[in-house]
Amino acid sequence: MGRASGRGAARRTGGRAQTGAGVDAPGARGQRAALPKPLDARELRAVYDTLMTAYGPQDWWPAAAIDGPERSLEICVGAILVQNTWWSGAEEAIANLRAARLLSCEAMLGLPEDALAELLRPAGYFRTKARKLRTFCGVVMDEHGGDIDPLLAGSMEEVRARLLAIWGVGPETADAMTLYAGGLPTFVVDAYTYRLFERLGRTPGPRKYDVYRDHLMRHVDLDERTLNEWHALIVRHGQQTCRKSQPHCGECPLLDRCAFGKTVVGS
Ligand code: SF4
Repeated sequence: MGRASGRGAARRTGGRAQTGAGVDAPGARGQRAALPKPLDARELRAVYDTLMTAYGPQDWWPAAAIDGPERSLEICVGAILVQNTWWSGAEEAIANLRAARLLSCEAMLGLPEDALAELLRPAGYFRTKARKLRTFCGVVMDEHGGDIDPLLAGSMEEVRARLLAIWGVGPETADAMTLYAGGLPTFVVDAYTYRLFERLGRTPGPRKYDVYRDHLMRHVDLDERTLNEWHALIVRHGQQTCRKSQPHCGECPLLDRCAFGKTVVGS
């Protein structure tokens, strides 16, 4: 599990200029060269297969609860807590909640917001996240009788829209909840996704959540298992190999198709 991007992290991670990919081709002096086409379905499948061969199945989401509503809630809580931070911080905050027997909507709402925030401190932005968790739990309690299953029931589009209507749940968080808690097919885009496609030099377009998601949803296999692994593999690759600074291009399984990596290795 990695660092969820959110708007703040996307800003901090920077744009195309940082990676060196996606700029006009050399030799196009005086005229603007056409940008490379986005990866098509066949190429995306090749990227997926390469990552899967290199890293193997990631079997997300890393929740302690095995199944049922407890697992769904833990995933949703984790998806909020990992916003703009590393998974290790979110994991520590979840452990605090579990140790205090607060991993239920009723219990989180029963605690004063300040006290809840203290338990979330390892996840950063802990006051805002306490408010977001209490808002999420309020929806579960008030609109779904305390049962998280109805919140996650229906088509992917219905569930995603329902989640997006909750304050504190943005597109990346909604997609993580929809895919990993709801088991419904959607692509989770994050800072690692932007970085990978920018460095490959084959972006779907500008660094905008819906631009990336729409392209990927049109060109990858839309089965839940594959989408689960797509996001997890991109995160694994971004953490282990395609690191923000000093990426390990020389040992990267995607080097032969990566514009940025070839300049790094070539130099
Ligand atoms: S070669 Fe691999 S590690 Fe290097 S920038 Fe490209 S994708 Fe990232």
